[in-house]
Amino acid sequence: CGICGVVGTRPAAPVIFEALRRLEYRGYDSAGIATLVDGQIERRRAAGKLDNLERVLEAAPLAGTTGIGHTRWATHGVPNETNAHPHSAGQVTIVHNGIIENFEALRAELEAKGRVFLSDTDTETVAHLLDQYVSDGLPPREAAFATLRRLEGAYAIAMIFADHDDMLIGARHGAPLAVGFGDGEMFLGSDSLALAPLARRIAYLEDGDWCVLTRAGAQFYDERGEAVERPIQQVALIA
Ligand code: GLU
Repeated sequence: CGICGVVGTRPAAPVIFEALRRLEYRGYDSAGIATLVDGQIERRRAAGKLDNLERVLEAAPLAGTTGIGHTRWATHGVPNETNAHPHSAGQVTIVHNGIIENFEALRAELEAKGRVFLSDTDTETVAHLLDQYVSDGLPPREAAFATLRRLEGAYAIAMIFADHDDMLIGARHGAPLAVGFGDGEMFLGSDSLALAPLARRIAYLEDGDWCVLTRAGAQFYDERGEAVERPIQQVALIA
């Protein structure tokens, strides 16, 4: 029910965890964080309260300066650790708010290609679809666009890619997503509260938009894949 993402210069997991705390008010039943460590995706997830995830992270800290986090309000699959986000497939990991309406048809198509699903979520289908395009040879930006074009439903999604430490892709389609501009670091969040202590400048994705973030900044695209500009608002930096 809440999303945060960071492509940054400081350890990402604590930053993401605190952002998830600020998103707790939206309600959730499980939570998780993934980061890139030496180019590889590492994940920690837990059912229940963020305190549970905090214990998992204390026992097994997550390094890395690029990552994504999620608080889940289950719609497809019971609230347990296996169904908690982030969902990984091969070279990609994603978090998702909302519902993918056509996930059953996509899942059947991907299973016919030999892909094995571990969860009951609609979200894992998106991870496999994205990884399928990456496996087919598409770079992250093109793979993300190819994936988004095939999704029906309401969603906000954040994606990271193995061996692409300087990249975080976000998409908004019927669920809110904002971009925070830091100093040599960039952020994604479900709302300005998630981003409040992190970024003085915020841009909101318009419906159908997606964006590619690197430490240097953001490139926005509309749903046809055309590069677009989105207004950046100055906000108060809340400690
Ligand atoms: N439909 C997804 C799931 O059930 C995302 C739910 C959410 O918005 O948190 O895992």
